Amino acid sequence: MTVLGLETSCDETAASVVRLAADGSTEVLSSVIHSQIEDHAAYGGVVPEIAARSHVEMIEGVAARAMAEARIDYGDLDGVGATAGPGLVGGVMVGLGFGKAVALARGLPFVAVNHLEGHAVSARLGARVDYPFLLLLVSGGHCQLLEVRGIGDMSRLGTTIDDAAGEAFDKIAKAMGLGYPGGPALERLAATGDGPRFDLPRALLGRKDCDFSFSGLKTAASRIAQSLETDQDRADLADAVQSAIARQLSERTDRAMADYAERHEARTLVVAGGVAANRTVRRVLEEAAARRSFAFVAPPLVYCTDNAAMIALAGAERLRLGLISDIDAPARPRWPLDEARAIADPVHP
Ligand code: ATP
Ligand code: MG
Ligand code: FE
Repeated sequence: MTVLGLETSCDETAASVVRLAADGSTEVLSSVIHSQIEDHAAYGGVVPEIAARSHVEMIEGVAARAMAEARIDYGDLDGVGATAGPGLVGGVMVGLGFGKAVALARGLPFVAVNHLEGHAVSARLGARVDYPFLLLLVSGGHCQLLEVRGIGDMSRLGTTIDDAAGEAFDKIAKAMGLGYPGGPALERLAATGDGPRFDLPRALLGRKDCDFSFSGLKTAASRIAQSLETDQDRADLADAVQSAIARQLSERTDRAMADYAERHEARTLVVAGGVAANRTVRRVLEEAAARRSFAFVAPPLVYCTDNAAMIALAGAERLRLGLISDIDAPARPRWPLDEARAIADPVHP
C-alpha cells in the first residue's frame, strides 16, 4: 500500500510518500516539509491568514518534490490522504482540496485524515508498534492520554483542563523573550540551567484521574520571568519549567499506565506530538514506563512535530481497512480523536 500524504493544518506545508507492507512494516519513501516559521516569527505565533496563503503558494511544489524524491509515478500510488482537521480551517482546506484534486485526476481513492490520528500512528514510522497501546499525545494544541486499540478505535483516558503541554512551553518561552516556537528554544536554554532553585507549582498531584493542568505553572513561571537578571537565571528557569512539565506528564501517565495495565496484557507506552521531541520529556517517560514494565516507544525526532509521513501512514492504514472517504469530505476545524471512528462513525459527519 503506497500513499501520498498531505499536511497543511498549521504552519508546515508537508507532503510525503509512505509504503505500508502487508506485515505492518513501514517505509518512508520521501518526507518534504516546508516550515513557515520565518513568516510568523515577527508576530510571535501563527497568523492564520498568512499561513493559508503560504500553503496555497507552496503545496504544489512540495507535493511534486515528495513524488520526485520517492521516485515513483502517480500510477504507483494506491491512494491519497490529506489532513481534514483539526486545525486552522483556511490551511486545512488547501491541502484537503489539493489532495482531492490529485485523487480525482488520477482516479485514486481519497482518505480524509484526522491530524491527531496521524500523530497517534507516527511512532510506527520508526519502529514496529503493535496495537493496542497507551498513547500520550503531547502537541501544540493537545495533551491527552488515549487507549489506542487500532486505527479509528481510540478512547480518551484524560485530557488537559486548560493549556496543552506545547502551548505551555510556547507561552512561557514567550514570557521569557525566547521567540516562536518556544519549545525547542526553551529546551536549548535549559541545557545550561540548574532548575531546582525555583519552586514551581505541582498541579493535580495525587489526583486519581488522568487529566492535566498547566495554567498555574504558566502563571508562576511568567511572573518569575519578569524578575530575572542574568543569562544563568534564565537558563535555570528554563530548566525548572522543562522539569515541571516533564514531571507532570510522567505523573499523569503513571496513573494511566496503572489503569491500562488492569485491562491489557501487552503493555506499551507511546508518546507522540511536538513535545515528544523534547529529550527530557522522553527520558522521564521512558523511566516511568520502565517502572511499570511497559515497553516505551517515541517516534524519530523528525516525526514528532508536524509532517506528512504520519498523514500518509494513517491514510494507508485506513485504506487497508477499506475506509475510503467521500470526495466531499469537509474540513473540520474541530475533530476529537475519539470521534474519528472507523466503524461506528464514518470519516465525515
Ligand atoms: P496539534 O497537533 O495539537 O494540532 P500542532 O500541530 O501545532 O498542534 P505539533 O507540531 O505536534 O503541534 O507540535 C508543536 C509543539 O511542540 C509546539 O508547541 C512546540 O513548542 C512543541 N515542541 C517542539 N519541539 C519541542 C521541544 N524540543 N521541546 C518542547 N516542546 C517542543
Ligand atoms: Mg508547527
Ligand atoms: Fe500536530
